[in-house]
Amino acid sequence: MKVAKFGGTSLASAEQIRKVCSIVTADPERRLIVVSAPGKRFKDDIKVTDMLIKCAKKFLETGCAEEELIEIASRYQDIANDLGVKADMGSIVEADLRKRLSGNIENNDKFMDSMKAAGEDNSAKLVAAYLKEKGYDAGYINPRDAGMILSDEYGNARVLPESYGKLKNLRDRHGIMIFPGFFGYSKSGEVVTFPRGGSDITGSILAAAINADMYENFTDVDSVFAANPNIVDNPAAIPELTYREMRELSYAGFSVLHEETLEPVYRTGIPVCIKNTNNPDSPGTKILTDREAKNGPVVGIASDKGFCSIFISKYMMNREIGFGRKLLHILEDEGVSYEHTPSGIDNISIILRENQLDGPAEKRILNRIKDELDVDDVLIEHNLALIMIVGEGMMRTVGIAARATDALSKASVNIEIINQGASEVSIMFGVNGDDSIKAVKALYGEFFK
Ligand code: ASP
Repeated sequence: MKVAKFGGTSLASAEQIRKVCSIVTADPERRLIVVSAPGKRFKDDIKVTDMLIKCAKKFLETGCAEEELIEIASRYQDIANDLGVKADMGSIVEADLRKRLSGNIENNDKFMDSMKAAGEDNSAKLVAAYLKEKGYDAGYINPRDAGMILSDEYGNARVLPESYGKLKNLRDRHGIMIFPGFFGYSKSGEVVTFPRGGSDITGSILAAAINADMYENFTDVDSVFAANPNIVDNPAAIPELTYREMRELSYAGFSVLHEETLEPVYRTGIPVCIKNTNNPDSPGTKILTDREAKNGPVVGIASDKGFCSIFISKYMMNREIGFGRKLLHILEDEGVSYEHTPSGIDNISIILRENQLDGPAEKRILNRIKDELDVDDVLIEHNLALIMIVGEGMMRTVGIAARATDALSKASVNIEIINQGASEVSIMFGVNGDDSIKAVKALYGEFFK
C-alpha cells in the first residue's frame, strides 16, 4: 500500500484533478491519498488557503466576509462544473464556510485554523465525489474519525504519538481513501493546522502509521534539483538522496518538501518518491536511508537568507564554566530559537533567523547579554545568508572544503563563517546576503560542471 500526496497545483483545476485521478487509479497500491487545497492555476493566481486567510481576517475585522466567502465557494463550484461532478459543491462549501464563520472567534488563532482547514477538507470531498461518480470505490476520510490527533499549537501543530496507533487502522479499510492534508484535531476536539505547506507532513505521518511501502509526493517539478532553478540555469536533477541530505537541503531553502516532512518516514525507513503530476512517467527523486554514491560527493547546494549573527567576546571565556548555558538561557527566556553557535577561545557567535528580533527584542537581548554575562563586546550583524553544500560522501573525500573556498574566493565572495564537522553531510558557509546568488553559482560551477 502506498500513500500518495498531491500538492496545491495538482488540485488547482478540473484538468489537474483529472490527472490526479488517473495517476491514483493507474496503480492499485495507491490507496491512501492526501490532498492539498486548490493552489495557483497561473503565476499570479491566489491559493485557496490564502483566500481563506483573507476571508477570516476580514470577518474578524468587520464581522462580515460575504464577498470573500462566495468567491471561495465559486472556485470549488467552477472546478466541480468542469469536472462534471453532480454534487452541488458550491453549496456544500458555502454551508461549510458559514458554519466555520459562526464558530467562536474569541481565540483568533483557533478561528483562523478552522478556516484554513476548509481548503483541504473541501478539496478531499470534491476529489472523493469525482472518483465515486466515476464508479470507483473511493471515499472521503475525516481526520478526526481516523485519529489524526495533534498538539494544540494553532498554526504550528505537531502530531501526538497516540495518533499512530489509531491511524494504522486505515490499512484495513477498503477502496481509495481521500484524506485532507494540513490539519487534524486537538485532544479537546478543535481543528488545528500544521505550519503552511503542511500537507506534506500529513502524508508522511500516514505513511509511517500504516507502514506504507512508499510515500509518493506529487508536485509540479520533475525532481529535486541540485540547486535552485531560479538561481542556476537548468540545474542537474537528483535521482536519489538520503533522508539526511534532503533534511539539510530543505532546511536551507529547498522548498520541494516542507522542512518537517521527513521525520515520521525517516524513523520508520519508508522510502519517499517526489514525482510530477504533470509528468508522472519521469522517475522523480527517491529519498532513502542509503543511496548508491553515483552522483559525486556533493549532491546539492542550498541557500537561505534572513539570518543574523550575534558576536560575543569576553577575555578568558574558555575558563568560565556555565557561560554557554547562561547565554542560551537568555535566548530560551526570550523565546528565541538559534541555528548555529560557532565558537573560539574567547568568543562565540549565535546565528539565528532575524525575523525573531523584530521590534524591541534585539535591543533587549543584546542588553541582557551585556549586563547578565558581563561580556567585553556584543555586536550583531544582519543580512547574513547561509549556503550549504550537502552530500553523504563529502566527509570521506579529501579537498571538498578547499574546492568550495577556492570557488568562493574566485567569485570574490567573502566567507564570514564556516561550519563543518557538526553535521556529517554538509558544510555551511555564512556570507553577506547580497552575495548569496553569486556564491551558489560559484559553488554549482565548481561541483557540477
Ligand atoms: N494549503 C496549505 C498551504 O497552502 C497546506 C499545503 O498546501 O500543504 O499552506
